[in-house]
Amino acid sequence: TSAPEVVTRFAPSPTGFLHIGGARTALFNYLYARRHNGRFLVRVEDTDRERSTDAAVKAIFDGLSWLGLFADDEPVFQHARADRHREVANILLETGHAYRDFLTAEETGALRDAAKAEGRAFESPWRDRTPTVDDLSKPHTVRFRRPTDVPVVVEDAVQGQVRWESASLDDLVILRSDGAPTYNLVVVVDDHDMGVTHVIRGDDHLNNAARQSLIYDALGWTRPTFAHIPLIHGPDGAKLSKRHGAQAVHEYAEMGYLPEAMRNYLARLGWAHGDDELFSDEQATAWFDLDGVGRAPARLDFDKLAHVNAHW
Ligand code: GLU
Repeated sequence: TSAPEVVTRFAPSPTGFLHIGGARTALFNYLYARRHNGRFLVRVEDTDRERSTDAAVKAIFDGLSWLGLFADDEPVFQHARADRHREVANILLETGHAYRDFLTAEETGALRDAAKAEGRAFESPWRDRTPTVDDLSKPHTVRFRRPTDVPVVVEDAVQGQVRWESASLDDLVILRSDGAPTYNLVVVVDDHDMGVTHVIRGDDHLNNAARQSLIYDALGWTRPTFAHIPLIHGPDGAKLSKRHGAQAVHEYAEMGYLPEAMRNYLARLGWAHGDDELFSDEQATAWFDLDGVGRAPARLDFDKLAHVNAHW
């Protein structure tokens, strides 16, 4: 009778501190789950072993705790789920939605350059070739076989309908030759297994939504609702950078900003509710919805933040 429970998640890559942008993404996911009596989960995307550090995991958890953004379940660590990711890659192989690609890196590079010179998308010849038993013993990657006859269409809760012609995509590598699963596959598998219904994240991930949607479709899984929120810019409208001032949430804590003020301020970065400037956590929870999230990048305004802070 009722729609499935709303499940959101914050999925940081542990490569540094919790930044203002990440904190705002986490807050939107938290508020959306609260608003709909759902659950807010945290997933640590530590698949990139070279760049992920324990110190960053701790820094991100510390930042979330300081802001009071507690998850409704234990965090999921993505790297620990690699066997499950490979299992799903195998399902895609068995159902013909993926294929083994025996090109070496050099061969791939050469074919990619040739395709580029001719203005067409790179395609591995292995897309249409059946490997022999002999081939199967050789190193290979596994590529997702994208449909080439239809565009990809995503109904984004913030961006509206977005379309990609399939020629603008290629057949994504989902397993590297060492068996390591790649980013877009693992996000889909984890979001599906965690029961995530709403993916709210920065619009730098919009193109991933196209690739991820195709993987959901191939597996016969229901796509989540995607909501790609514009990134935060500095007061001058340029991409946020060090020269705009503090980037990490802990720096604000050290400067004496209160978590309540930060939450209030961050909630208003890209989300509007009438002319309301200051509101309580209860009001934010009662009011927050994706309809109020705008398509223009939000601008950091330090005077406003100080004003909000003074109120607490
Ligand atoms: N781990 C990604 C990031 O930190 C987020 C991916 C996602 O939310 O789907 O940018």
